[in-house]
Amino acid sequence: MRVAIVGTGYVGLTQGVCLAEIGHDVVCVDIDEKKIKSLKRGKVTFYEPGLDDMMQRNTDAQRLTFTTDVKKAIQHAEIVFSAVGTPEGEDHRADLTAVRAVARDFGRYANEYKVFVNKSTVPVGTAQECENIVHDEFVRRSVTFGYDVVSNPEFLREGVAVQDFLKPDRIIVGSKSSHATEMMNKLYTPIIEKGAVFFSTDIQSAEVIKYAANAFLATKISFMNEIASFCEQVGADVTEVEHGIGLDSRIGRRFLHAGIGFGGSCFPKDLHALIQSGKDHGYEFKIISEVQRVNQLQKEVLAKKLMSHMPNLSHKTITLWGLSFKQKTDDMREAPSLTIIEQLLMHGARIRAYDPVAMDNCKKLKKDVRYEKSALEAAKGSDALLLITDWDEFRGVDFEKLRSVMRGDLIGDGRNIWKPSDVRSAGFRYFSIGRK
Ligand code: NAD
Repeated sequence: MRVAIVGTGYVGLTQGVCLAEIGHDVVCVDIDEKKIKSLKRGKVTFYEPGLDDMMQRNTDAQRLTFTTDVKKAIQHAEIVFSAVGTPEGEDHRADLTAVRAVARDFGRYANEYKVFVNKSTVPVGTAQECENIVHDEFVRRSVTFGYDVVSNPEFLREGVAVQDFLKPDRIIVGSKSSHATEMMNKLYTPIIEKGAVFFSTDIQSAEVIKYAANAFLATKISFMNEIASFCEQVGADVTEVEHGIGLDSRIGRRFLHAGIGFGGSCFPKDLHALIQSGKDHGYEFKIISEVQRVNQLQKEVLAKKLMSHMPNLSHKTITLWGLSFKQKTDDMREAPSLTIIEQLLMHGARIRAYDPVAMDNCKKLKKDVRYEKSALEAAKGSDALLLITDWDEFRGVDFEKLRSVMRGDLIGDGRNIWKPSDVRSAGFRYFSIGRK
């Protein structure tokens, strides 16, 4: 099928590359000329394992092209995806400026029946708004052919985006047109045949499903973080509790890890947007507001623990291992590391940091940090080390060697990736989240 993807960020590019991979003819379009130039040269503009090879393969096979010409892209396609950003606006609502612009472009340039698909995360009612925008443009142009608007939210996780796209648990399609639903089903057939559930529903429910899914996952994280704080009070071990409750099939083991709070480009902004959307429709979300509050406090926990062991941070050197909001991504949006860096600097500490892929992005946000080329380099001469992101390369660290390069003997593990006895037997004082 002929497809256009408008917005070539994490979601749009992954979507475009993967749709080409399953045989479709895809044009990716963006208003960012630098980004399109880079993609045309075969360079992915962010870190996502496996995406660059797949992109090259599909560009070579001429199933995938890049352009800044939105008119050409829309006229090429039977299905037009809007995958533009919906960042948090000043009032915490999702900023829909870009989505509205794409709907307007669709209304302006469509030259035959097409389906407009909203891939971005948008509040309930946005598909209807897009439909109205397209309708107004069609009336202005006295267009006689039809169009359909579909909601098809995205659930991929950065770091495993390709796998999530090609082997998702489910594909959600909200539509009021059976013809458009059939086209979406045809588009995704190779993925459905590999086991993904194709769930078609009404548009409003599809829009709510995306926010409800993210809000539920965020709730699991804040829930475990509260249990971790309680474990510390009573001498329990939260990793044992995670395991013990996860064995209950009603609960499940995934996404039940205490840590230093959630960040990233989705959970924080989507929770805000859902709460505001609730207010707009006369509903007050109580649980979700608390999930956010717990998360905010959790981002401060690691620095507070450090200061309980080392009350005066002035002129102390603290090493941070990991900066991105989670492993396998260079995304620094709302990363807990940003809160931790601010707290440490405020108390006079000097910071040396290492992250396998996120340092360039972090440098743009935090200049008063010394960025080092390797984990051990960053630990040299430091008084304490904080593990911020659970990158695999930190898991198998040689603690004896680490002890020999550090000046101090304090380690704080914000992700509970190490066994306390392993760290302590190398002569370290060790603290983590919700464990003795
Ligand atoms: P992003 O900021 O990485 O990319 C958005 C792209 O849209 C940018 O390249 C920007 O230049 C482009 N753009 C903006 N206005 C445009 C216009 N009028 N025409 C053409 N291009 C335009 O955003 P993202 O992380 O890919 O997220 C996109 C949407 O998907 C958001 O709603 C987000 O909440 C949702 N989402 C993101 C993830 C994720 O993990 N990043 C997962 C699921 C859903």
